[in-house]
Amino acid sequence: MRTARNKTEDGLFAVTGEGRAVSLFRLVLSFMAVVMLAFVLIEGWRIWRDYRQVFINAENAVTNLARATAQHAEDAIRQVDAITAALAERLEGDGFEHIDRPRLHALLKQQAAIMPQLHGLFVYGPDGSWIVTDKDVVPAGANNADRDYFIYHRTHPGREVRIGSVVRSRSTGDLIIPISRRLDRPDGSFAGVLLGTIKVDWFVRYYGDFKIDERGALVLAKRDGTILVRRPFVEKVIGRSLASSDIFRHYLPYASEGVAEAVAVVDGTPRLYAFRALSSYPLVVEAGLSRESIIAPWRHDMLKSVVVLLLLLVGLAAFGWVVLRQLRERIAIERALHQAHQTLKAMALTDSLTGLGNRRRLDAVLEAEIRRARRQGYALALVLFDLDYFKAYNDRYGHPAGDQCLRRFGALLQQALKRPGDLAVRYGGEEFVVLLPNTDVQGASQIVQEILQLLRRQAMVHDGSPVGLVSASAGIAVGRPGLEAVTPENLVAAADAALYEAKRQGRDRYCVAAGIEAGAG
Ligand code: GH3
Ligand code: MG
Ligand code: MG
Repeated sequence: MRTARNKTEDGLFAVTGEGRAVSLFRLVLSFMAVVMLAFVLIEGWRIWRDYRQVFINAENAVTNLARATAQHAEDAIRQVDAITAALAERLEGDGFEHIDRPRLHALLKQQAAIMPQLHGLFVYGPDGSWIVTDKDVVPAGANNADRDYFIYHRTHPGREVRIGSVVRSRSTGDLIIPISRRLDRPDGSFAGVLLGTIKVDWFVRYYGDFKIDERGALVLAKRDGTILVRRPFVEKVIGRSLASSDIFRHYLPYASEGVAEAVAVVDGTPRLYAFRALSSYPLVVEAGLSRESIIAPWRHDMLKSVVVLLLLLVGLAAFGWVVLRQLRERIAIERALHQAHQTLKAMALTDSLTGLGNRRRLDAVLEAEIRRARRQGYALALVLFDLDYFKAYNDRYGHPAGDQCLRRFGALLQQALKRPGDLAVRYGGEEFVVLLPNTDVQGASQIVQEILQLLRRQAMVHDGSPVGLVSASAGIAVGRPGLEAVTPENLVAAADAALYEAKRQGRDRYCVAAGIEAGAG
């Protein structure tokens, strides 16, 4: 019972000192983990959100670019379309025999002057010869019968405007996009071709004005994929076909505009493209920003965030490490202190010679045992032992032998006590006390008899004693705290009186105290 209670006391000590440090250690550790995890999650979420935002912004940018370039191309071509339509109507209406060349030349020249995209306006006869142009000088013997658009119109009766692939101008050497129409005689036979040409440079300069990095791309192509204009402008790319590109194969057949990530067939750069088919003409524009240029600022920002986050985490970890190390040191100190305390406590309550408890130990428990006996209504026996003629023993056999004798008696007491609640202490000198909770006179007498008997059986020779062996006398006091006023003092006094009586009666025996004297002590 007592052992159990001592354990509880130790546990309490652990909770108040070392235990607190241990739980603080755990608290700091989990707090650090939570804070670090929170930092990582928040930063990760932010980086991911930025990544998505960057692409949303890029999609908007390329879509706007595609709309602007599509509108621009449509406007430029529509003007040429309109003027050639008007001219065709006039030429066919007036009849080719009555053409007033100087007047028509002046008209073409005037129209060309107000359309900056226009490279030239040309009227060819059915044999390909130059009939009239906006140019002041017509090259002698010039003939365009070999041109792609001329052959097309001569062999196709269709009246609609035709946009041709880029060619180099015979009159100026510029790269131009031919916009052409067939001219018919009243009988429907081929009368020639009306041609308006747009400078590729007009588009190149317009595309050059957009603020996109050098990896960005703007493309104007025919619906069949033939490139007309491209930024960045490389002449050898003009005329190449985009027909095999993802956008022409997988997107344009199903949608006239949209956004797609694709690798450019021209330069192999992965880009985010917006594409748009012109509504009035068989043309397509593509505006693309390179993946690299879209991601680069985000990546830069992300790397900075990651570095800052890592520094923060390292700082936190270092801080945590210092705190935890200090806590661990504190725990170690608390543990050592606790052990020292336990040792001191044990030492303070232990008799070093016999290993039994000492008088302080008895003082520490006696009052509590009396209370407990009162509460539970049982008797409490206290026995005082005193070795007989011990001074003589010392004198005859020496002090060390006396010590040895005391040790043996202590061991004997320990051996004789069976119940866990029983307590034997060395009260002082050659006097010992045995405390027996829940024990009446009869029980105590029996135990004392056993002890005295055991001592005799040890047969420690003592020539100074009439019995020739070491013997002891005992006084038993049994208190009933529930029925009478029992204190540590009067209980010990009663046992002492009984011991005195045993000595008086001749030693090597025990006496039982008549009663507890109230107020004694
Ligand atoms: P009685 O039969 O009346 O008890 O006589 P006694 O000689 O035992 O009584 P007394 O009180 O006169 O002597 C006690 C002796 O016990 C005195 C001392 O020499 C001895 N003694 C006390 N403490 C120790 C100890 O720690 N070691 C040893 N060897 N002897 C001790
Ligand atoms: Mg004595
Ligand atoms: Mg004695």
